[in-house]
Amino acid sequence: MTSSDSPDCLFCKIVAGEIPADVVESSDTAIAFRDIAPKAPVHVLVAPKEHYPDVPAFAASDPEGLASVIALADGVASELGDGQYRLIFNTGPKAGQTIFHVHAHLLAGGELPGFA
Ligand code: AMP
Ligand code: ZN
Repeated sequence: MTSSDSPDCLFCKIVAGEIPADVVESSDTAIAFRDIAPKAPVHVLVAPKEHYPDVPAFAASDPEGLASVIALADGVASELGDGQYRLIFNTGPKAGQTIFHVHAHLLAGGELPGFA
């Protein structure tokens, strides 16, 4: 599925440049932009340019694409921080997913809170 297959998707519109975003890095296949409501000193969203609803669908269809999203996130974490980070893919509404274009939350910068 390509970006143009999901005309109502917010992140497809960011990929297409139709909605502004604070883009920090991009590759041929993925884009990294700052979260509009940051939860950590560095809070960047890393998404494939193609539309997949969530990470299992993305992994099943394009495992190399998933690897490239992780590589882009790793590079951004070194650029904007010290290379230590947390990567989160919220999957499903109960897990907090609100935008159904797969994206990793890259959280970094300082001491991150532990899980209970
Ligand atoms: P999730 O809840 O895992 O689907 O993550 C969606 C994230 O997108 C949230 O952390 C929002 O703050 C963020 N977000 C929503 N709209 C925008 C936008 N226009 N630009 C950047 N981040 C956004
Ligand atoms: Zn999309």
